[in-house]
Amino acid sequence: MSEKIKMITPLVEMDGDEMTRVIWKMIKDILLKPYVDLNTEYYDLGLEHREATKDKVTFDSAYATKKYGVAVKCATITPNAARVKEYNLSEMWKSPNGTIRAILDGTVFRTPILVKGITPFIPTWKKPITIARHAYGDVYKNTEMVVDANCKAELVVTAPDGTETRSLIQEFKTPGIIQGLHNIDKSISSFARSCFNFALDAKQDLWFATKDTISKKYDHRFKDIFNEIFEAEYKEKFDNAGIEYFYTLIDDAVARVVRSDGGYIWACKNYDGDVMSDMVATAFGSLAMMTSVLVSPDGVYEYEAAHGTVQRHYYKYLKGETTSTNSVATLFAWTGALRKRGELDNTPDLVNFANNLEKATIQTIEDGVMTGDLALLSTLENKTKVDTETFLLEVNKRLQNLL
Ligand code: NAP
Ligand code: MG
Repeated sequence: MSEKIKMITPLVEMDGDEMTRVIWKMIKDILLKPYVDLNTEYYDLGLEHREATKDKVTFDSAYATKKYGVAVKCATITPNAARVKEYNLSEMWKSPNGTIRAILDGTVFRTPILVKGITPFIPTWKKPITIARHAYGDVYKNTEMVVDANCKAELVVTAPDGTETRSLIQEFKTPGIIQGLHNIDKSISSFARSCFNFALDAKQDLWFATKDTISKKYDHRFKDIFNEIFEAEYKEKFDNAGIEYFYTLIDDAVARVVRSDGGYIWACKNYDGDVMSDMVATAFGSLAMMTSVLVSPDGVYEYEAAHGTVQRHYYKYLKGETTSTNSVATLFAWTGALRKRGELDNTPDLVNFANNLEKATIQTIEDGVMTGDLALLSTLENKTKVDTETFLLEVNKRLQNLL
């Protein structure tokens, strides 16, 4: 065999938990190490090691990502009460994704992988739709109260000198409820820059939508910040790339999305992104085919699969049963990260390798070889359901033909 592909800058590798940790190793052994002289800085974010390091490893991995610019992450357990018991944890460690996102100040972009045979529920969708969700504030950092009858509710803002600004919410004659929301200009600006950068990278149009006709200060602020940053920093770049940024009302956006053929990025406020990403993911067919990348406003990238650790399959695996777990989104996290590393380091061999590995993966599924979750959905006439490892071996056969 010819020489292995060299990497210049280390890629930050964040290992994870359960079935995806098993898949992680298989991908490296079968599809990466034979071809690439893997230069990674390894961080074990598996729950045992997070416990052993008191979660320091998660913070270290995020700082390393800031330093080198590109990371690839395996799915990880976010501990709940059951996990605290199962893993005998000294603390209910926070979600690694939350910790990493806070340090990188990034936005998450989710994109489905399309293959022939898995038809979106919306038949006009021919190209992927990427959802970008603002991950700070609004209803996720709210303050709520239940209000009794005959009470007055006001918004009060106190300036440093003690001056108060008040605004009436409601004079309650009968009982009711209130909710206080906030967001921060800085966070909205970061979100906007991440979206503009991602659109330039993907060479796709960017859509942004809120309800600014009703929310004339709050949602309008989002619209204004996006506009100001676009006009000042991105308009020319977008013109040169032949792509467009446009703002519309959220209800108009929903109608347009459904009628579109895809191929753009849809930026959403926090709640809209939560709801719409589940809608778009389901409509495209499979969570196991959804990729995810965290992009910081200063251009740092962390790639992962959108799904979790596939716990149920892992317990079967532990009992020695064969599983048919879909590795495609995890594999595309690797190819996304390797391609970005190659682009930044100017190593076209690495970029080509990543492209070919994606091609081989899609070819495998379109040849009718797939894991159980896809076999249930695929409309191909001749299809074979294979186990987790066989799928990767089949991808490798096609990869060898492409290289
Ligand atoms: P999940 O791991 O995404 O799995 C939910 C179900 O979806 C699975 O049981 C499986 O259905 C199906 N599925 C998901 N990915 C699949 C794949 N690659 N191949 C085949 N089927 C797949 O979500 P969860 O069970 O709610 O969460 C498990 C753990 O993952 C939790 O501890 C959670 O904290 C963590 N999690 C991590 C991340 C992350 O790190 N980004 C994200 C979400 C959840 P069937 O069992 O019916 O086959
Ligand atoms: Mg949700």
